[in-house]
Amino acid sequence: MKENVSAQLINGQQIAKSIRNHIRIQVKRLDFKPGLAVIQIGTDSASTVYVNHKQKDCERVGFHSEVIRLPSNTLQEKVIDLIQQLNLSKHIHGILVQMPMPNHIDEQIVIDSILPQKDADGLGTVNLGNLLIGQERVLPCTPGGILRLIEETKIELAGKRVVCVGRSRLVGKPIGLLMLNRHATVTFCHSRTMDLGLETKEADILVVAIGKPKFITPKMVKSGAIVIDVGINRIGNSLIGDIDFKTVSKVAGFITPVPGGVGPMTRAILLENTLKLATTQFETL
Ligand code: NDP
Repeated sequence: MKENVSAQLINGQQIAKSIRNHIRIQVKRLDFKPGLAVIQIGTDSASTVYVNHKQKDCERVGFHSEVIRLPSNTLQEKVIDLIQQLNLSKHIHGILVQMPMPNHIDEQIVIDSILPQKDADGLGTVNLGNLLIGQERVLPCTPGGILRLIEETKIELAGKRVVCVGRSRLVGKPIGLLMLNRHATVTFCHSRTMDLGLETKEADILVVAIGKPKFITPKMVKSGAIVIDVGINRIGNSLIGDIDFKTVSKVAGFITPVPGGVGPMTRAILLENTLKLATTQFETL
């Protein structure tokens, strides 16, 4: 049955495909293969799926890829030893450790053992710091993907009100900084925000990353707003976003679906980052 959708769909699947095609063409022109190493610690099934996707994406664009799977009880020092070897490898230009890592591991210490010049996820302190000071080098993949989805609408970002619901290091904070760097007026909301609906209703661009299925309802959304749904919630065999897509799409101007919105873009930006790391000399990284 056809749903009565009034918002324009921003198709992450399609945009990601065109990014991959562009990367494939660029790789063919190189006399080497950009290389991505992905480390998975433990056997979390969702992580296994994500890592497999990343490996397949590498094959699609002609990258060299290495997947290293470690048992869940691997000591932090062992992970760092491995990263230090990969830091030295001539075949590897990007390194990523799949998150979440087991509880005994300090994620930021592990990520910061990756050379900033090989930080494919853009989540090391150096790359996040560069983002903070407005010198964008390697963007965190999900926020980088969200930016591209928003750019697809051709909206002028300067002066727009952006509301980020969620303030994680992975999504909320960096997307807010990306928007601020483009002169938007940014509000960060989180679990202690007093009247969330009041804040979200003001947003020209609403980015939601909280991990709560269908949490955002039409009465929380400004008419015509750009609504980006980052949430991935597994309900049975389905993936559900943080936005109540069916009802919010009748109010929003643009909306991303789940699946097929932010997820594929996150993977596409990882490829783009790896190519960038393989082909750019970063003097200040
Ligand atoms: P985190 O758990 O790290 O952060 C969640 C954020 O949501 C926190 O800032 C939290 O506030 C806030 N929050 C939780 N409940 C509420 C509430 N009721 N009202 C307002 N804010 C609330 O999650 P992530 O940022 O890592 O991920 C968020 C979602 O995005 C998840 O569903 C995840 O699976 C998905 N995701 C999707 C990706 C993709 O590629 N599509 C990539 C990464 C994540 P506080 O800080 O106060 O606790």
